[in-house]
Amino acid sequence: MILERLFSDVSPEVARILEAALAGHELSTADAAVLLRAEGADLFALMRAGDLARREDNGDDVSFVITRNINFTNVCYVGCSFCGFSRHKEDADVYDHDMEALVAKARNAVERGATEICIQGGIHPNKDHSHYHEILVAIKQEFPNLHIHAYSPEEIDFGHPKSGMSLPDYFRWLMDAGLGSMPGTAAEILDDEIRKLISPKKLRTARWVEIVEAAHGVGLPSTSTLMYGHIESHEHVANHLGLIREIQQRTGGFTEFVPLGFIHERNILFNHMNARSGASMPEDLRLIAVSRLFLRPFITNIQMSWVKMGPKLAQMALMSGANDMGGTLMEESISRESGSQHGENLPAEEMRRLIREVGRIPVQRSTTYGTVARFDDPEKDPPSLEPTTPRDLAGPERWRLQHQQSDGDEKKKLRVASC
Ligand code: SF4
Repeated sequence: MILERLFSDVSPEVARILEAALAGHELSTADAAVLLRAEGADLFALMRAGDLARREDNGDDVSFVITRNINFTNVCYVGCSFCGFSRHKEDADVYDHDMEALVAKARNAVERGATEICIQGGIHPNKDHSHYHEILVAIKQEFPNLHIHAYSPEEIDFGHPKSGMSLPDYFRWLMDAGLGSMPGTAAEILDDEIRKLISPKKLRTARWVEIVEAAHGVGLPSTSTLMYGHIESHEHVANHLGLIREIQQRTGGFTEFVPLGFIHERNILFNHMNARSGASMPEDLRLIAVSRLFLRPFITNIQMSWVKMGPKLAQMALMSGANDMGGTLMEESISRESGSQHGENLPAEEMRRLIREVGRIPVQRSTTYGTVARFDDPEKDPPSLEPTTPRDLAGPERWRLQHQQSDGDEKKKLRVASC
C-alpha cells in the first residue's frame, strides 16, 4: 500500500506519541521534547498529525481578527536583550503619544473595520497605573464597542504596586475602565534560568503566572505566548508548554496559544550574546504541530504569527496544526524594529486570499473567538476598507503600501523605507 509506505520510516517512538495524541491522550513534556526534535519522515508525520488534530478540533475554518496595534510609547528601561523596539528618554527617535493621538489611532482602526485594538508600550519610568487607566477611559469614551486588548503582564507588574490595590482589584479597576482582555506576552520562556539571561530585569515566572491567574480569576481572558529560536533548549520549550497547559487546566482563561519566533537582526541577544539567529523553518512548523497536539483539548486555538513567519510559511503553519492567522495589525513596531521584513499590515482581503489558497474557509472573529463574519463565497466578499488595497498595486508599490498604511508617522516611514 502506497499510503503505508509514506509513513513506513517514521520512528517507533514518534509513531507511538502521535498515535497517543490523536487518540486523545495527554502528552507528557518528555513526549513534547521528543517531537520537538523530529526530522525527515518523523517531521512530515508530525505535521500531518498536527493537521489532523486541527481538523478534529476546529474543522476547516481559519480565523483572523481585524485589529490595530497601538504602542503608546517606545521609552522603556527594562532592557530586554532581544528587544529592538525600546528607547531611552534622550534618544532622538523616542515617542510618547498623548491621549489625542491615541484616540486618533483608535479612530483610524475603527474606520478600517477593526473590532479590537491592542495597546502595549514600553515601561516608561515617569508613568504609573493612572496612565494605563487614562488610556482606557479616553478610548472607551469615543468607542464604547471597541474591544481593548491591552497591557502585558510586565505592564501589569509595573502599574499594579503603585496602585495600592490587590491584584484582582487592580484588574477590576482596569476592566471597569474598558479593558477587555490581556496579551499573554512578556512570557518569552517561562523558566527563570533563561529569563535571568535574556531579560534580567523582567518579571519572573512565578509573577507572570500570578498575574495571568489573577486576570483569569476575575474573568479577564488572555492569550498565551512563547518566544523561541534563541538560547532555549527543547526541554525549556516543552516545560513552558506544560506550564501553559497547567494554568489552562486551572483557569480556562487562555483564548489561544501563539508561538513567536525570535527576530534576531537588531538586538543584543543575537549580536552580543551568541543566541541563534531565530528558528529554522522546520522548527517553526514543529512547534505549531507540537502545540496543537500537546495543548488539546485545553487550548484548541493555535495561532501562527505572520509577522514573524511571513505569509508563505504562515500557510505551511495552517497545514501543520494552526487554525488562526492572528490580527491584521495595521501598525507593528516590535518585530519590525528587531528586523522582521514581513510588513506591518495584512489587510482582511489578503488574509482571506492566503486562507483560501490552502483550501480553507476564512472567518473573521472577535478577540474571544466569536464569529463576526464567515466568508464561504469569494464572490460575496465585502469591499476593502483600506484606503488603497494592496491588490490595486504590484511589486515594490504594494510592498511600500503595506509598510506605510498605518498612518502619518513620518519618522517611522523613513525608518522603514531605509531598511
Ligand atoms: S521587550 Fe518590552 S519590557 Fe523588554 S525592553 Fe522591550 S519594550 Fe521594554
